[in-house]
Amino acid sequence: GAGTDVGTGHVVVDLDAVATNVSSLARRTGVPVLAVVKADAYGHGLVPVARAALAGGASWLGVAQLDEALRLREAGVDAPVLAWLLSGDAAPVAAALRRQITLGVSHPRHVEAVVAAARASGQVADLHVKVDTGLHRNGVDLADLPAVARTLAEAERDGLVAVSGVFSHLAWADSPRHPTVDLQAAAFDGAVDVLREAGLRPGLRHLANSAATLTRPDLHLDMVRPGLAVYGLSPVPDLATPAELGLRPALTLRSRLAHVRRVAAGEGVSYGHAWSAPTDTVLGLLPLGYADGLPRSTTGRAEVWVGGTGGRRVPVVGRVCMDQAVVDLGPGAREDVGDEVVVLGPGLLGEPTAEDWAVAAGTISYEIVARLGSRLPRRWS
Ligand code: PLP
Repeated sequence: GAGTDVGTGHVVVDLDAVATNVSSLARRTGVPVLAVVKADAYGHGLVPVARAALAGGASWLGVAQLDEALRLREAGVDAPVLAWLLSGDAAPVAAALRRQITLGVSHPRHVEAVVAAARASGQVADLHVKVDTGLHRNGVDLADLPAVARTLAEAERDGLVAVSGVFSHLAWADSPRHPTVDLQAAAFDGAVDVLREAGLRPGLRHLANSAATLTRPDLHLDMVRPGLAVYGLSPVPDLATPAELGLRPALTLRSRLAHVRRVAAGEGVSYGHAWSAPTDTVLGLLPLGYADGLPRSTTGRAEVWVGGTGGRRVPVVGRVCMDQAVVDLGPGAREDVGDEVVVLGPGLLGEPTAEDWAVAAGTISYEIVARLGSRLPRRWS
């Protein structure tokens, strides 16, 4: 609304970048792309991003939770959607089947819930079997797979389910040459064989997240399943920048100076006076804090951009607070209240990137974008 313009700040998502990233991934791999849009599209906005990814040529959308899949359907998105984090309850599964959501089954009890829901609703459940090849998070345990495969084959013969895919998730994809990647790939081939021996024909085998999509063409199989790369961020920041990977970061976090003040050399700033002005200087107040997703753990290490084109990076000084942070504009700064601040973005002006914030916080860029506060308005351009 109008009131948000002079408020704390806002997130701008470049949907053209999303579409371009997807089309570049599709061209580069030559296989269908399932764009992962879970967690509100990694903080970028579920429905607008889903539409942009489809416009860029994504064949599928992927989410963790059934609610996210249903939200896509409620918005009128009718593309194939895979949801892979089931609780094992039959009721939400029945709702998903009515909306033609493809379900990832990770446990024998998911199979039971799906078969029960299919029987009760008269809907054929389209399934991808998620197998645990070594991440040891969710996924059917390889020891349980032969029995799960037999149950699914029987349910398929009864017209209750259709097993159209099989997938797994990698533990070490961001280290492309780590031996675990190859061990998981081999275990995956074995799992596919187990399903085939039971009489199943899972046509879509998929294993590659963003890192494997970009670094391991031998693992593209029948479909790739990138998340982070869709948003233009590098899943292998130590190896390559987004630009080097042909990606454009989509998200910018903008704010404005809420206050500008002078302080004398030696004055302490913010809680615990974790920073003191080394000289007389000018401080700017950023009306954003850790409740908006700026990690408090970046204290002393983060920077933001002021001055627009031809502007400069200035340090965030003192503790990052819940709703506020202070920047040192430097002696002689001419900024005023209302002047624009770019907190993070693609880096084209010279502004810090999500990766820079991640390094400052000791985390990964995924966490920086996914945790941008829900109270920050999103705009899509
Ligand atoms: N596939 C699954 C099962 C996932 O859980 C995720 C996200 O963690 C992805 C794909 C996408 O991963 P990334 O964002 O690293 O491409």
